[in-house]
Amino acid sequence: MMSSSVALMKAKEPLCLYDHSLLPLGDFEVYVRIEACGLGLADWNVAMRDAVPRTPLVLGQEAVGRVQVVGRGVKHLSIGSRVGITPLSTTCDTCDACSRGQLQYCANAFFHGFHVDGALCDVGLFVADQLIPAPDVLTGAQLAPLYGSGWTAMGALRAAGVKDGMRVVIFGVGGVGHLAVQYAKTLGAAVAVVDPDKSRAQFGITLGAQMVVDAVSVSKSLQAVWDGFDVAIVCTPSIQAITQACRAVGPGGTVMLLGHAPTTRIDVPLQDVVTRGLNVRGSFLGTLNDLQEVVALARTGVVVPTVERHPMSEAPDLLYKLRDGGFSGRLVFEPGR
Ligand SMILES: [Zn+2]
Repeated sequence: MMSSSVALMKAKEPLCLYDHSLLPLGDFEVYVRIEACGLGLADWNVAMRDAVPRTPLVLGQEAVGRVQVVGRGVKHLSIGSRVGITPLSTTCDTCDACSRGQLQYCANAFFHGFHVDGALCDVGLFVADQLIPAPDVLTGAQLAPLYGSGWTAMGALRAAGVKDGMRVVIFGVGGVGHLAVQYAKTLGAAVAVVDPDKSRAQFGITLGAQMVVDAVSVSKSLQAVWDGFDVAIVCTPSIQAITQACRAVGPGGTVMLLGHAPTTRIDVPLQDVVTRGLNVRGSFLGTLNDLQEVVALARTGVVVPTVERHPMSEAPDLLYKLRDGGFSGRLVFEPGR
């Protein structure tokens, strides 16, 4: 089976279009014809690393497609099944994290677009176990971001205990943030957004946020207006945003860090964290329940990602523009266009 893809041929080199033969199908694997694949800062991080586990490496950690060929041992999928592909390729099912149901923190996990080839391709080979049945509603482009960005957004809100009546501030209204705004609303929270890009901040308002807070005066104005937030969701690896988030939450508040980069170190205001008893923590993806909730909200049309669609061939150029932002919603690439 031949595959056209977008790959990193060598660490830190520009991405390029890459045609190759897929490996023969194992008993517990499937070939999936990809409808659409989202790209975000996580992929940019991979492309910028000094070293990656293997090359050539096909990128892509969130996608939707249809099963084309099924390995002999696969029971839960058949030819034509629509599936979602998440960042997770395989987990061990035996470590402490797996035993707790936190597959995303598996000590022995392999990730798409990092340890193994990802989904930025027309046809790819995937381990069947971790593929999630996808609904037959919405386009592939609308569904693809749910399996990475959507899962991350909901996972963070649930891990932070967001519920009815809470006040939540979202830093960064991009691929993950624009979904976090909407999911926080569905959980009953009052939502504010912070984004240095005025059009993206305004985009947050159109999605249901009640307030935009000026990033420069954030520490003063946030507390003045709402007397401190219960939860801050920081979707960017910006050190400034993390500092602002620590000042934006009230006593006992939670600062949930989602944006990450391999070499970034954070600088938190210790006085705020200690004397106001803040809970500063990280969150990555979510539980399978969180993902199912995300898919259910999309199926009924309550929260559908806003996407900017491009042919797959444009991915190498556009990936490098991600760092500078400017996109409202998620960038998705379609091999069939
Ligand atoms: Zn494990």
